[in-house]
Amino acid sequence: MMADSYEVHLKEAAAFIRQHDDFLVVSHVQPDGDAAGSTFATAYMLQALGKRYTLINEGAIPEKFQFLGGEHSVVQYALQPPERKFAIVISVDCADFGRIGQVQHCLDDNMLLLNIDHHATNDAFGAVNLVRADAAATVEVLYDLAVTLGIPFTAELNDCIYTGLLTDTGGFRYSNTSPKVLQIAADMLARGVKGHVLAEMFLEKMTVPQVSLLRKGLSTLSFAHGNRVAWLSVSLNDLAETGASNDDMDGLVNYARNVEGVEVGMLFKEKQPGVVKVSLRSGGQADVAEIAKRFGGGGHVRAAGCTVSGSLIEAIDQVVKEVGKALL
Ligand code: 5GP
Ligand code: MN
Repeated sequence: MMADSYEVHLKEAAAFIRQHDDFLVVSHVQPDGDAAGSTFATAYMLQALGKRYTLINEGAIPEKFQFLGGEHSVVQYALQPPERKFAIVISVDCADFGRIGQVQHCLDDNMLLLNIDHHATNDAFGAVNLVRADAAATVEVLYDLAVTLGIPFTAELNDCIYTGLLTDTGGFRYSNTSPKVLQIAADMLARGVKGHVLAEMFLEKMTVPQVSLLRKGLSTLSFAHGNRVAWLSVSLNDLAETGASNDDMDGLVNYARNVEGVEVGMLFKEKQPGVVKVSLRSGGQADVAEIAKRFGGGGHVRAAGCTVSGSLIEAIDQVVKEVGKALL
């Protein structure tokens, strides 16, 4: 039944793309490998169909992902808001409309949106919704859409698809690494993707500021609830002292989650004085999407996020308490 309705949604999404032109393509704020890969994969697909499109994100695409776009550039809304509005929108990897951030402001009142995503918490905010919660990454859905649309798998498109799979599965290790993920990855490798090069670039290499931040982050490692909950925190001061960027915090949460006996690992990042972004990771016992939702966030059972007001200490106090309740 799931498969049937997915096929129907694939056809609807394909029809939406064929029928329209002049698309705005947007992914979530602070794009990760799947968001960046999905944005550029969508661009290559629209290009192959001879469509016009504009790529926009609220902020910058992390530098390491930019080569995926080839000649494409992504308009940074926060730096140069476009002067025009868009009526035809494709959002990728966004669980809810709010995830596109300020890009909301350049959408026409009567805009039509195609929502392509893989989050279980996706609230079907599009006119057409192509959402598959058992897909490991949005690029997995885009792969199916490319097949439906008969789009050729070029080297550029393949790199984008492989990158989204690689990064959202933590290097093909997380529980979302399904047979289908490995089948698509195998297909991409067979078509010439250099998997080891992408893995080194996106999973192995660390910048000096990133390692410095890791050192500081690890020194904050704390435990609660009988060592079943662990967390790290990063203050604005830590960022300033190390010269690290937001992207340099990628993966830091895993050091809390990976400690033996820990059920929920978290990273608390001070975004502005009084605003803390929380990343939650679960070993599977606790549904961290549920916990994140209580703070206005969301995500997946094993990986979720939310933003909490207050100082780092206050945010830690509030969220650690809620996590404790979920572990009872
Ligand atoms: P991260 O901790 O890496 O920022 O996010 C982990 C997962 O939770 C991702 O799948 C991401 O899409 C989701 N997520 C993170 N922050 C938020 C948020 O504020 N709202 C929602 N709905 N999902 C979030
Ligand atoms: Mn994703």
